[in-house]
Amino acid sequence: MDQDQNQEKGKSSFDHALDLLNFGQNAYGAGKNLGRAGRFVSGAGRLAPILANPVVATIGGIALIMIILIFVLGGKGQASETPSATPAPITNQNINGIVNITGATPQEIQTVNDALSIGFSYPGYKNKLTSNGPINITFQQNLTWQGGQVDGLTLSGDEIIIRSGLSPEGLKYTILHETGHVLIFRNPRIWQSYPFSDLISADPACYSSLGFLKTYPFANTGGGGGDAVESFAESVSQFLLKRQPLENFQTLCPNTYNWELRNIFQETQ
Ligand SMILES: [Zn+2]
Repeated sequence: MDQDQNQEKGKSSFDHALDLLNFGQNAYGAGKNLGRAGRFVSGAGRLAPILANPVVATIGGIALIMIILIFVLGGKGQASETPSATPAPITNQNINGIVNITGATPQEIQTVNDALSIGFSYPGYKNKLTSNGPINITFQQNLTWQGGQVDGLTLSGDEIIIRSGLSPEGLKYTILHETGHVLIFRNPRIWQSYPFSDLISADPACYSSLGFLKTYPFANTGGGGGDAVESFAESVSQFLLKRQPLENFQTLCPNTYNWELRNIFQETQ
């Protein structure tokens, strides 16, 4: 990871996408994700009639290949999980055509709504997230990736998987982090313009020595989809949630904050 960091300046966004293939179990991960990339492309084609933004019509041809996940926070945010007396999951809830939620309890549906509502107060976030049709959010028990339990996975620009039974706080964080990954899939131009290494240099207090935004659960050990992808997704959730140790995100990380404001949350671009 340190070596990767030193080479970061010379890398293109495409290199970052390739980096993701090198994370974890290479051959297995690559094969699996090529399949997912294909599924994403076909999903975009299926949704073509309801494309709201002509810019995103180009997405179908650009298959960013990614492995995306959040590892379990070591006990953090997990304490309030109470498996007893959990209401029965609802088969399918379509919320205003924006998300299809499957397998969630009424409380989980409400929490997803609450989380998305925070983001939707920013028209740019709402438009960029929803401009390619609804996002399928599936809740399931025992969500694992490469042998470890995870809280959330984003499989494509259309598909998020969430582990059932997270605390409301943990679910809110996880869903907003995952929408950061969806933004990457649905807005490749923004992802390609993400000045990752420049932001690390400009906001040194905000990133771990491995180059992850410090609020990311594995900021100090590495993981997920890699430093650039996870820092992008994490900065989206922190713009909206402001968790410790970056609770004063706007003043502690002004360059990261302002880049997001201009390129994601404001209406322009
Ligand atoms: Zn992630």
